[in-house]
Amino acid sequence: MRPNTKLVHIETPANPIIRLSDIAAIAEIAHAGRAELSVDATISTPLGTKPLALGADYVVHSLTKYIGGHGDALGGAVIGRREQIATLRKGSLIHLGGSLSPFAAWLILRGMETLAPRMMMHEANARRVEAFLADHSKVRSVLWPGSPRHPQHELAQRQMRNFSGLLAFTAKEEGGALARQLAERLRVISYAVSLGKTKSLLFYIPTEDILQSSFHLEGEGARSYREWAADGVFRFSVGLEDPDDIIADLEQAVG
Ligand SMILES: *Cc1c(COP(=O)(O)O)cnc(C)c1O
Repeated sequence: MRPNTKLVHIETPANPIIRLSDIAAIAEIAHAGRAELSVDATISTPLGTKPLALGADYVVHSLTKYIGGHGDALGGAVIGRREQIATLRKGSLIHLGGSLSPFAAWLILRGMETLAPRMMMHEANARRVEAFLADHSKVRSVLWPGSPRHPQHELAQRQMRNFSGLLAFTAKEEGGALARQLAERLRVISYAVSLGKTKSLLFYIPTEDILQSSFHLEGEGARSYREWAADGVFRFSVGLEDPDDIIADLEQAVG
């Protein structure tokens, strides 16, 4: 916090390392410093976490992910108190744009109708995959908030009612080599970016690449990221396929 801090923005769970932030605790710190708190809860979805009830002022969702759910439309939403949202509409919206295309809006509304059953199934499938990966000899660590193996599982239980279908794992050996092997061998799972759609998506995110291209972390922030992510994380958006098929595909591809 600095004297001129107006907004604290967090993402929980954070993409791609599935690290959590304590919304209630950070809301207290932000408000004590007379700043507002905004929470990107895309990965948890509104079914999993209710940041406004925990003290946040704004919630941000990428509608492109679980809410739309099919990976075929782009959209975003900001939720907050009526007066603040009115200010956003008048100010930034004019300068930044904010009109969803009607077809994207229609696809997202249609996808949203099945959000609840999809999230239950994403969670159940992720639970199976997490257990499989945790036992695998080539896997160093698996991070999924629904598992007691996640270092913040206790916090996850406090602020998540659904643990979502996104997990991350790191490899014991060099991550880049395993990534190339997975890209060649996976058949059911797509080796591709994005997350939160019906089909399983897996992608390797090398630590040094993302620190340089996106996060620009230094000092303690960079050290702490490297400690969680090792040389890179495999971000795995567990889809709605039969979990036996997902696990069999991983098994043959990881080898
Ligand atoms: C993908 C993603 C975004 C950005 O969403 P787009 O709709 O792709 O622009 C923001 N936050 C999180 C957590 C995401 O996973």
